[in-house]
Amino acid sequence: MQRFTARAVVVGDRAGTVVPQAVVDVADGEITWVGPAAEAPPAGDADVVELPGVLMPGLVNAHSHAPMVLFRGQGEGLPLDRWLSEVMWPREARLTGDDVEAAMTAASAELLRNGVTTSVEMYFHPERIAAAVDRTGARAVIATPLLPLPGMPPLREQLDRAVDLAASAPRDGRVEYGLGPHAAYTLPLPLLADAARAAREHGLLLHLHVAETATEGQDLLALHGLSVPALLAAHDVLGGRVLAAHCVHLDDGDLELWREYDVAVAHCPASNAKLASGVAPLRDMLDRGIRVGLGTDGPASNDALDLLADARLAAQLARLASGDATALSAAEALWLATGAAADALGRPDLGQLEAGRRADLVHVDTRDLAFVPIGDATDVLTHLVWSAGGRFVRDVWVGGRQVVADGACTTVDAGALRADVAERAGRLARGAGPGGSPTRDAPVS
Ligand SMILES: [Zn+2]
Repeated sequence: MQRFTARAVVVGDRAGTVVPQAVVDVADGEITWVGPAAEAPPAGDADVVELPGVLMPGLVNAHSHAPMVLFRGQGEGLPLDRWLSEVMWPREARLTGDDVEAAMTAASAELLRNGVTTSVEMYFHPERIAAAVDRTGARAVIATPLLPLPGMPPLREQLDRAVDLAASAPRDGRVEYGLGPHAAYTLPLPLLADAARAAREHGLLLHLHVAETATEGQDLLALHGLSVPALLAAHDVLGGRVLAAHCVHLDDGDLELWREYDVAVAHCPASNAKLASGVAPLRDMLDRGIRVGLGTDGPASNDALDLLADARLAAQLARLASGDATALSAAEALWLATGAAADALGRPDLGQLEAGRRADLVHVDTRDLAFVPIGDATDVLTHLVWSAGGRFVRDVWVGGRQVVADGACTTVDAGALRADVAERAGRLARGAGPGGSPTRDAPVS
C-alpha cells in the first residue's frame, strides 16, 4: 500500500470539496481511502509519500487530437478555410504512423506534465496512439476516426476495422478504443447510424464533432430541414455513450434533445476562441443536467495542452457571455476537468479522488505566491483555477505508478522527443515525403 499525505486534497467533485491536511491511500492502482489525516486508518507498512503541496485528481481531457503537436502555430492568423487548405491538409497528407506515434508520445508526456492523465484522442493510426501512451504511462480513450478520404478504405470497412480493434483490445483501463465518426457534415447519415448502433452494442464511446461553427450545418438544414442534433436523433445516432465535441451553436430544442438522450459534451473553450467559433452555452447545458467535460481540442487549434488553463478560460467565457460573475464557479470549472469529464466519458473509475476510483494523482506545488493567501481551505481550489496552471504540476501518478517527478516525465526522454517532433514537423512542412504514398488529405479536427 502507498499512503500520500498532502497539505490538502481537492476531490474533483461538483461541490468543490477540499480536505485540508489529508491522506490518500492507494493499493493495487486504486484509491482505498481519502480523508483528513487525523481520521486515517493505521498506515501499517505502507510506503508513505509526504507531499508539501496539494493533491488533485488526474485531469481528464474530453477532446483532443494530441499528435497535432506536429502542426503547432503553423499558419497563424490565416482564416479557417485557408488554414485548412494551405497549411493543415497538405501536412496531414504526408503523415505516417511513425509520425503519429512520435508526436503522440511527446504530446502525452506534455499532457502528463500538465496533470492530464487521461485524454480522449481522435486521430489517424489509433494503434500508434495506444503504443505512445503505453510508453508514457498515461491513459487514453482512442476514438478511431471514420472519414471519407482518398487513400482510406471505404467507410464500411473503416467501421468494421474500428469495431474489431475496440473489441480485441484488452480492457485494463489504460487504453480504451471507441468510435470516432467525424461529424454529420462529413459523413453519410446511414454510416453514422451504423457506427452508433455498433457503439451501443459493444458499449463503446461514440465521439463526434457537433455544431462547432455556425455554418457547418447549413447544407444539412437546407436538405433536411433539421438541425444537426435533430438530424442525429432522427437517424438513431443518439443514445448510449455519445460524446459530442464543441456543441457551440445549439438552440433550446437541441439542448433538450441532448438532455433527453443523455448526450455528453466535450467543451473546448480555447479552441472555440482561437478559431472564433463562438461561445458554447455551458451554463444552459449544466442547468439542464447535460454531462459536460472540458477538452483542449488539438494542439494546432489551442495551442497548449494545459487543461487547467482551459478551466480558467471556461469560467471567464461563461461569465463574459452572461455578464454574471456567478455564471461558473471555480469549483465547477475544476470539476469540468476532473469528475465531470470522467462522467462525460462514461468512466466513473476516473476523475475524482474517492475510494474505489483509479489512483490517478496530481501533486501541485503550492509554494508560490500564486497560492497566497489561504483564508479557508477552498482558497486552494480558487487559486488552482484563477492563478495557477499546468506549470505548477510537480508529480503525477497513474494507477499508483509515478510518471512525472519534479516536473519532468520519468517514462520517456522529453528532450529526444522534442528534437524528433521538430524534425518530423519540418519534413511535413517542406513537403518531403517519408518514402511512402500520401495517405490523407483532410484533417480530423
Ligand atoms: Zn476536434
